[in-house]
Amino acid sequence: MSIAKGIRDSIEKSSWIRKMFEEGAKMKAQFGAENVFDFSLGNPDLEPPEEFFSTLQTMLRERKPGSHGYMPNAGFLSVREAIAGKVSREHGVMVRPEGIIMTCGAAGGMNTVLKTILNPGDEVIVLKPYFVEYGFYIGNHGGKMVLVDTAADFSINVGNIKQAINEKTRAVIINSPNNPTGKIYSRQEISDLTEMLRATGQTIFLISDEPYREIVYDNAEVPSILAFYNESIVITSYSKSLSLPGERIGYLVLHPSCKDFDLVMAGMILSNRILGYVNAPALMQRVVAELLNVTVDVGIYKKKRDIFIEGLSSAGYDFITPEGAFYLFCKAPTDDDVAFVRHLQKFNVLAVPGVGFGGPGYFRLAYCVPESTIRKSIPKFKEALESYDTKA
Ligand code: PLP
Repeated sequence: MSIAKGIRDSIEKSSWIRKMFEEGAKMKAQFGAENVFDFSLGNPDLEPPEEFFSTLQTMLRERKPGSHGYMPNAGFLSVREAIAGKVSREHGVMVRPEGIIMTCGAAGGMNTVLKTILNPGDEVIVLKPYFVEYGFYIGNHGGKMVLVDTAADFSINVGNIKQAINEKTRAVIINSPNNPTGKIYSRQEISDLTEMLRATGQTIFLISDEPYREIVYDNAEVPSILAFYNESIVITSYSKSLSLPGERIGYLVLHPSCKDFDLVMAGMILSNRILGYVNAPALMQRVVAELLNVTVDVGIYKKKRDIFIEGLSSAGYDFITPEGAFYLFCKAPTDDDVAFVRHLQKFNVLAVPGVGFGGPGYFRLAYCVPESTIRKSIPKFKEALESYDTKA
């Protein structure tokens, strides 16, 4: 075999999104893109805000020596100072620039952290349903992903996590607002979880993957784990908040009171370097430091969500209203979510089966698409459900 077995297996495992992508491309060629209702990809449809372009232009006119050179692997100090101020204000914990690393998106941050903390065979707890890349990120660094069920409303089930902990457990990953459910974990949930983790007496990192922190609806609060637990690491990016997924820019924050703070930071800075990221993109670091309080217009996503939840519930679908992010995890009218996703395809609707997220019986709809796509898709969803019922 010309490639490693692990990568070959991973190609197979990641095939759901790839399959939907390939099938979507075929359908668009056949029926015209405007007649295909593609909810398969979490690629933001909003362009970056105007402030991004004007700041970028200003930066491009500057001729400051060193702006495009190598730098400390954690990123420009001035940028980390600016981010530290923002994080301290928003998370309610004083964070220093020494506790921040600029990363190549949230994905880069996750890999940097996992490489630093995992020994071969160490376990990382992930809550179902989950962002499918976690399995690959953990596997990249010799770890083992341990999947744990959430409650029926996708809230954290602390008892289940407690049961899954053993001497090999190194970390728990949470993702709030959640992909694929849109769930935001409450203060009480975070408090109960961290109390349980503390009581184990082990060093178990709590990693909060938060690329959707700014995409929340109805003034929902995303409680910070930093306020609850010392062994905590927050990872975020500008992929969604500024619609910059292609620019690969984000950051991670280590709790200032984390045990072995200096060693963990040194490990993460080295990992960021030797994973080949070296440092986060220089130009983008300087741009985001100027845009601390800027986001895309979240009101637009809220409007899409509201149209979608209203339309889907009137069409007879069952789901928990997303509180944030731009995904809707919808119950399939059968346990066989793959069969229902195939059925939706007959109506030119593309979704991703829940089984791909460890949530069988559901399907994920990414509603970061034009409002017109959502509106026009509702009759298709209705027909699909009605015809599926008649067939059953
Ligand atoms: N984590 C979650 C939950 C995501 O949904 C995504 C992207 O969709 C990422 C991480 C990766 O984000 P980034 O593009 O910033 O690496």
